[in-house]
Amino acid sequence: MADQSGPLAFFKAQHQAFAETLAARRGREDLIDGLLEQAFSSFEGNVEIQSEGLPPLACHKGCATCCTLRVTATAPEILMIARYIRWASAALKRAEIDLEQRIADADRATQGLSEEQRVALRRRCPFIANGVCVIYPVRPLACRGHASYDKRACVEAAAGRAGSVPFSAPHMTVRSLVQNAMQSALRDAGYAFGAYELNRAVSMALTDGNHHERWAAGDDVFADALVAEVSLDEMASTFDAIKAHP
Ligand code: SF4
Repeated sequence: MADQSGPLAFFKAQHQAFAETLAARRGREDLIDGLLEQAFSSFEGNVEIQSEGLPPLACHKGCATCCTLRVTATAPEILMIARYIRWASAALKRAEIDLEQRIADADRATQGLSEEQRVALRRRCPFIANGVCVIYPVRPLACRGHASYDKRACVEAAAGRAGSVPFSAPHMTVRSLVQNAMQSALRDAGYAFGAYELNRAVSMALTDGNHHERWAAGDDVFADALVAEVSLDEMASTFDAIKAHP
């Protein structure tokens, strides 16, 4: 995100790049790979630039203190996670991690709960095993964008004690801009562009191997897991307003 361009120009540039990837890879197996390589590398590169001069993060590999929050993800992210779980299934079995069962259990326990109810429940994300995120290489943008400067504050918040966590503004802002630009480009290209509750949607993707083909054909295959705080119509009009901005 160049200083002279600002968030709106960054959004538009990201949107254009996602649109080009969607056009070039339409109908191809590697469509979601292209989108997510772009999303993750854009996120990492721009967060690094925006974080220059800021204090170091308290987050580190193996810390899962905040992993009790509700996670949302786009359809390409969910499809990629499902593919990764299938690919890693032998290794997970050897480690005696029944990830599909964990996700199904978590889904049953959290289905229909609001974000606040999820925080109060303090149930750990099913993807944590032996203290680490087992889908770390393909974790969603939502997880990447949640970064803190103070571990103690995270522990207090996770225990339900009052206090605010000093989150990294560059992580939150860049995540939001990159994710929204991808969603906007998906919408323009005729793909389902919602944000979905992670456990429910991954559970759905794992129980039916046709989700990728159906999503690529334009079906909203994870509609049952749609997070509806902001409606698709509201999202669409926000995207249109940004794109129309000179
Ligand atoms: S997917 Fe991984 S990083 Fe995200 S909340 Fe779950 S364990 Fe944490």
